[in-house]
Amino acid sequence: MYNSKVDVAELGNPILQAQAQKVVSFVGGRRESEELQHTIEQMREVMQVRNGVGIAAPQIGISQQILIIASRPNERYPEAPLIEPVVMINPVINTVSSYTEKGWEGCLSVPGIRGFVSRAVQVNVGFVDINGTPQCWELEGFLARIFLHEYDHLIGLTFLDRVDSVADLISENELAKR
Ligand SMILES: [Zn+2]
Repeated sequence: MYNSKVDVAELGNPILQAQAQKVVSFVGGRRESEELQHTIEQMREVMQVRNGVGIAAPQIGISQQILIIASRPNERYPEAPLIEPVVMINPVINTVSSYTEKGWEGCLSVPGIRGFVSRAVQVNVGFVDINGTPQCWELEGFLARIFLHEYDHLIGLTFLDRVDSVADLISENELAKR
């Protein structure tokens, strides 16, 4: 199996507990935006190799406010909607629905464990796209879940901080037996 050269930060790595920095590189020179492109390429690579539906920059050791949502049906998430991957830079949450739903989540940074996590079913988000253009999107269901999961990585949280109790955690091996 092909493995990415990019190192993934796992639980216990302080970068996963840090507030990520705002990206300012679009206003910088050419070198800065090349760095941003490089970061995004590395994120895409890790996500594809590890079969993830989303990723946040701190997970590859870069404490910047960048996330990717790349939902598509796969073995782990057969019900996932198929979308073109979206890169969100400096994302903000404008509004969240008070209505929540519980669903299983896994994380590249928390290997072997899944959590049954309560998330808002609808979220309105603002972000800057890879061209530097501000966008405003309404996300629902699984897409809202991915966004909120990845956004948490930018504010130093993982899904372990979001489960109601330890009873909502399970090992992937145990989950497979169900
Ligand atoms: Zn994660």
